Parts: sequence; C-alpha cells; structure tokens
Amino acid sequence: MQHRNLGTSGLRVSVVGLGTNNFGGRLDVNQTRAVVDRAIDAGITLFDTADMYGNRGGSEEQLGEVLGARRKDIVLATKFAAPMDDSGRKVGASRRWIMEAVEDSLRRLKTDWIDLYQLHFPDPLTPIEETLRALDDLISQGKVRYIGCSNLSAWRVVESQWVARDAETHRFVSCQEEYNILNRALEADMLPAMAEYGCGLLPYFPLASGLLTGKYKREAMPAGARLTDTPKFANREYVTERNWAMIEALEAFASKRGHTLLELAFAWILARPETSSVIAGATKPEQIDANVAAAGWELSADEVAELDRISGEG
Ligand code: NAP
Repeated sequence: MQHRNLGTSGLRVSVVGLGTNNFGGRLDVNQTRAVVDRAIDAGITLFDTADMYGNRGGSEEQLGEVLGARRKDIVLATKFAAPMDDSGRKVGASRRWIMEAVEDSLRRLKTDWIDLYQLHFPDPLTPIEETLRALDDLISQGKVRYIGCSNLSAWRVVESQWVARDAETHRFVSCQEEYNILNRALEADMLPAMAEYGCGLLPYFPLASGLLTGKYKREAMPAGARLTDTPKFANREYVTERNWAMIEALEAFASKRGHTLLELAFAWILARPETSSVIAGATKPEQIDANVAAAGWELSADEVAELDRISGEG
C-alpha cells in the first residue's frame, strides 16, 4: 500500500481509503466488521465517516464497536454540520453545535480524538471565522488533530484559507468533493484552488456509486447492488446514456491494456497530484481486495491524454 500526505499537511494516508456511508444503514454490525477487518489487514489506514451516516449516528457507532484497540493504528476522519435531528438545532457550523457535535462523535466512535474533523457542508448562517476558531480550540484541546472541509464552493475554500491566515487559526488541509472520470466538474475552479492552497483531495463517489466497477451493464443491473436497489443514488445523474457509452469506451481502453474498468477508475483519480486518498465505499471484504489491487496501475502521460479525449475533456 502506498501512502500520500493529505495536502501539504504532515498527515500520511493510504492511497486507498475506506468510505463508510453504507455502515449502520445497508450493513449490519457483522457485515461492517468483516469489511473493516479486511481493510485493516490490507493496509488501508484512512477511514472516512460522518455523524449523519447510517441514519444519524449508525456508521460512527458501528466503527466504534468494531475498531477496538486498532483505532490508534488508523486515521479516523468524520464530519459535522448535517442535521442530526429534525428540530433545526443540531445542525450547522456554529461554535455551539460544533462543541456538542464533537462530543457526540467521540462517544459514538469510542475514542478520545478525531484525526480529521471535516465541515460536511457550508453553513451560510455562521461566519467561517467562528467555525475555524471553534475547530482551532478543539485542536488545542487535543480532541481533533487536523481539519478539513467538504462541499464548499471554490470561493468559500479560498475565503476559509485567508480567514485562517488572518485569524491565526489552523486551516482546512483537505477538501472532500465529488470526483470521478464521469464527473470532472471539479476541475474548473476547485482543483486549481485546492492546489494553490495545499488542500488534499478526498474524492467522494470515486466509483460513481459502483457504476465504474464493471458490474453494471446496460441490459443487466446486478441484484442487491446500490444503483439497482437505491433510487436515491441511481438518480444522481449517473445512470445515463452518456455514461453507458463512456463506460463502454473506458472498458475497451482498459482491457486493451490488460486492465479492468475498476483499475482504471482508481488509476485515473490517483494520476491527479491533488488526490490524497481514494475513499471508495465497500460493502464486502472481496471489494476491499479488488480496490486495493486496483490502485496498482500507474497511467502514463499518453494514457492520461487519451482518457481526456475519451471523457470529452481533452
Ligand atoms: P463510491 O465509492 O463511488 O461507491 C461505493 C459503492 O461501490 C459501494 O456501495 C459498492 O456497492 C460498490 N463497490 C465498491 N467497491 C467495489 C468493487 N470492488 N466491486 C464492486 N462494487 C464495488 O461511493 P460512496 O461510497 O458513496 O463514496 C465514497 C465515500 O465518500 C463514502 O463512503 C463517504 O465516506 C464519502 N462521501 C462523502 C460525501 C460528502 O458529501 N462529503 C458524499 C458521498 C460520499 P454495492 O453497494 O453495490 O456493493
């Protein structure tokens, strides 16, 4: 397993990480244990969760239950800001909610510290300086090691970096954003901003919810798989004519070189210098094995250029 720094921070993470938004929802605790055990055995060190995953708390709870003493060996990332109830109080990025949310996450995760604490969504009702100062206090208290953000627009990322500089607080060292070869919208503004300010990319939906694994075919959607069973994900503009055509072209590109579509999905994201870790979700131990093996293909500059052409961005 290779490792990279998270942006320009000193935090080292495995290039294949584990996304855990299936835990506590589609996966029960025994299924989660099987995936986590295999991930740790395979050398995955970055585990990405959020307070809201698993019907508000379930993912963190299952992780806390199955990690045990191995927690200290991994990089544990979680997030706050999404609504944790329907009252309208347990949400956002105010100092008041952050101080409560972090205690809830620490309790569910059965740990004393969070390695990477991420702002999950922008909170337009809270000044970013208030959020940064509260997070900075958590670092001083030893409850959090590094801070990151997610789903901010490029201008908000830049603003957060400048406010952190001005207020002399710690800064966001990572951005978690939707990115894969079928969705390259990030490249217009966000990737250049992240590169300029030393923020590592943690791409979410790196496998387009599974569409880039090769198991989905236009005529045959596999039973029990996310995009077959969960309309919420299938409807996210991935299952489209444009993408079926592109997947067929990408699959042909990969097989001509003795590789699979899954390997291509990892290799392409890892060819980006901004990428720190590909936090793919997995629901079975075999998927962990396949994902770790997939990260072994290093694309040449010519191959990257050809893929730009195929994906219409060249
Ligand atoms: P993803 O990684 O694109 O796809 C995950 C799905 O792909 C799994 O549920 C599994 O589907 C399938 N899969 C994975 N490896 C496979 C393999 N080797 N062979 C066959 N199928 C495989 O999507 P994601 O899990 O939603 O995104 C990754 C992580 O990003 C999440 O877990 C979460 O931590 C994070 N995330 C963050 C945000 C945000 O707003 N910050 C939003 C979404 C996700 P089956 O269920 O069909 O087995």
